[in-house]
Amino acid sequence: MEGVKEACGVFGVYAPGAFVSQLTFDGLFALQHRGQESAGMAVSDGETVMVLKDMGLVTSVFDERGLSSLQGDLAIGHTRYSTTGPSTWHSAQPVYRPSGKAGFALGHNGNLTNTESLAVEAGMLGALTSDSDVVAELLAQRFPDESKALSGKVEADHLLDALCEVLPRLEGAFSFALMDCDRLIGVRDPHGFRPLCLGRLDYNVDGEARTGWVIASESPALDICGAQLVREIEPGEMVLIDASGPRSSWPFGEEAKDACLCVFEFVYFARPDSRLRNREVYAIRRKMGELLAGQQPVEADLVIGVPDSGVTAAEGYAAASGIAFGQGLIKNRYIGRTFIAPTQEARALGVRRKLNPLRASIAGKRLVVVDDSIVRGTTTRQLVKMLKEAGAAEIHLRISSPPFSWPCFYGIDTPSRDELLAAQLSLEEMNANIGSDSLEFLSLANLMESVGADPEGHGICRACLTGDYPTEVPLSLKDRSAVLERELVASKH
Ligand code: SF4
Repeated sequence: MEGVKEACGVFGVYAPGAFVSQLTFDGLFALQHRGQESAGMAVSDGETVMVLKDMGLVTSVFDERGLSSLQGDLAIGHTRYSTTGPSTWHSAQPVYRPSGKAGFALGHNGNLTNTESLAVEAGMLGALTSDSDVVAELLAQRFPDESKALSGKVEADHLLDALCEVLPRLEGAFSFALMDCDRLIGVRDPHGFRPLCLGRLDYNVDGEARTGWVIASESPALDICGAQLVREIEPGEMVLIDASGPRSSWPFGEEAKDACLCVFEFVYFARPDSRLRNREVYAIRRKMGELLAGQQPVEADLVIGVPDSGVTAAEGYAAASGIAFGQGLIKNRYIGRTFIAPTQEARALGVRRKLNPLRASIAGKRLVVVDDSIVRGTTTRQLVKMLKEAGAAEIHLRISSPPFSWPCFYGIDTPSRDELLAAQLSLEEMNANIGSDSLEFLSLANLMESVGADPEGHGICRACLTGDYPTEVPLSLKDRSAVLERELVASKH
């Protein structure tokens, strides 16, 4: 489909004696919605780090035989949707480097904003596969050469030293799961754009009770393994887990930066059963719908949601407005969350592949149709047309987030500004362009209230809605003309 695309999911488990590859498979399966292009895992038995990765869904990359061959004490895993670098096997993660005793592996969720300068420093500008690869290379380059290591001249903890040197040089968004042969490491950037949580896993080996540890992008990946959510890893925190349990350090300095968790984790990316900032995402999405109903009421017969993430907000809208809630669209469950269509024409067909209207339920009805966002508008236009052809009398579109007017540089794949509908058209023009009878968006203030933030949005990134980026974004990434255009577009809304 044409909407915003997830970046990636990361997972890691430290549980000697447990079936860590199976646990990683389960964790990745729970994070499949964050990336469907490729999946991979790295497993260590204390002596070697084995990596298995391939293009495709978690269930197509791993089978029972593959998992059985990956025995070890700790593992990391990754599901990928490409934002930097091509969608090829070489860019699939975890990224591995053979540095140190048995090498190290890294999985990344997010997007760096200074990849180019880091790639120059790493000497890999022409050979760039992804920002994650550049980070792995910079870390590897800080290990001593083999002769030094073998002569025993260097006794330091090379991976930790390299991390302490390289991490503060990274700009942008990153939640990392890293490992070497006997340690699992989770790192969250100082702004905490992407989520990362820590869980405790109580398990048994031959009747002996043991405690293991799990890190994951979202809490359902802990639930599926039987782990208990301990807490979110803090922005700027690095958690190292080994036989002594988890230990925190602050490689970016102990001074707290402004946390900036991506607001679209609440609106769209995270699973409704995820817990973010101690609240279930389902309740937050429902609140968005409730506030939207109060803010933008309309006379109608039925409220329907656009599957999947629009449905919860639709429930909230119906409850607050008193209009009946019902199903009006059936989703093909086998299409996956992203259907990658290379052209606008193919994308236009995408909606019929994914959704089909329940004709008898909607015929002759005035519908409130709740969706999470409008990006290019292609899908929404097709959706409105399809619902009208199916007999809907009126279509009142209600969007559970404000207009998406600015591109994201923090790990979400969004088109450039000239393809973002809200950056090009006024509200009235968008409504006419889409063909709906009315179109309204949740206000920024109500979105902030839904996610539990203050009206200024402290602790939340909302740059794609406001154009105020929380970090310096190089002009080479920004559309230069968009910077000049900003005031003009802002005045349209
Ligand atoms: S710019 Fe938008 S999509 Fe990107 S991290 Fe910020 S809120 Fe999320």
